[in-house]
Amino acid sequence: MNNELLKQLCQATAVSGDEQEVRDILRATLEGHAEEISFDGLGSFIARKGSHGPKVAIVGHMDEVGFMVSHITDDGFLRFATVGGWWSQSMLNHRVTVRTRSGQHVPGVIGSVAPHALTEKQKQQPVDFDEMFIDIGANSREEVANRGIFIGDFISPEGNFARWGEDKIVAKALDNRAGCALMAELFMSVNNPAITLYGVASVEEEVGLRGAQTSAETLKPDVVIVLDTAVAGDVPGIDKVKFPLKLGNGPAAMLFDKRYFPNQKLTALLKASAEKTETDLQFCIMKTGATDGGRYNVMGGGRPVLALCLPTRYLHANSGMISEKDYASLFSVVRHLLQQLNGDTVATLCDFR
Ligand code: ZN
Repeated sequence: MNNELLKQLCQATAVSGDEQEVRDILRATLEGHAEEISFDGLGSFIARKGSHGPKVAIVGHMDEVGFMVSHITDDGFLRFATVGGWWSQSMLNHRVTVRTRSGQHVPGVIGSVAPHALTEKQKQQPVDFDEMFIDIGANSREEVANRGIFIGDFISPEGNFARWGEDKIVAKALDNRAGCALMAELFMSVNNPAITLYGVASVEEEVGLRGAQTSAETLKPDVVIVLDTAVAGDVPGIDKVKFPLKLGNGPAAMLFDKRYFPNQKLTALLKASAEKTETDLQFCIMKTGATDGGRYNVMGGGRPVLALCLPTRYLHANSGMISEKDYASLFSVVRHLLQQLNGDTVATLCDFR
């Protein structure tokens, strides 16, 4: 696994609607490996390799959850709107990065009230998003403007990338830079002349799978494999029946989410590849969310789709955690599957007679 690439991708600031930094990294990484690089109308990244056989797309979304500057106070604090799903309790006192329109990074912190200044009753209550603010160390609205920050600028959690213990990676935006990194590594590694391989990095997944829809319309793929993250339940306080995934126990096939079922024959091919590569698979169901698979499966009259997820702790917060072992297994099982596909296998996926 290419830790450097994953680190670079995680540290980029690319909130939904503002994915340029990740787009640039992926273009630089895949330029020498793709026959063509293009974009859909919202900016999803599309690399193509080969031109014969069925169109097979591997997809990871580029965007991360973050915030947008909504107001600047007279004394230089930023009010913000949340972009994507946040829980207020995983935000206070975290450092963030404001990305200005010229691409500068300005550090800030989501301010919190010191416990000394809170009543016992206030301490029991979560703070509302609307009451929060970001402090960039400015003294006035003019100073904020002088630093290039304006209403509408995007804000990401601050990047911090670390390798802990035997196999853990801790970083922001693992959802879904891990999927982007896997997409890029697979795209570079797979050589199957029987398929046309597309490496796709979609935009705006966290706000409603929008780049999945636009890239699906642009590409019209015959098969889609979505690479994303899913909640690991192997920490205290999570219902382990509803969230059974464990770090280190292998990649997870998504069997059912709010917007999708996988193609059953494609799932069977994945299981066969898992056996051949001696990969442990986990399985998950997520009725409270969806991956890009939820759009791809209903586009173009219906497409065979399978979503594979890396078990991830602390999703949609400053510091997520994955296992390198799961990353490596996901890579090898999907690589094996992609090497097997050809016109005949793909034709059987949607043969319902
Ligand atoms: Zn995701």
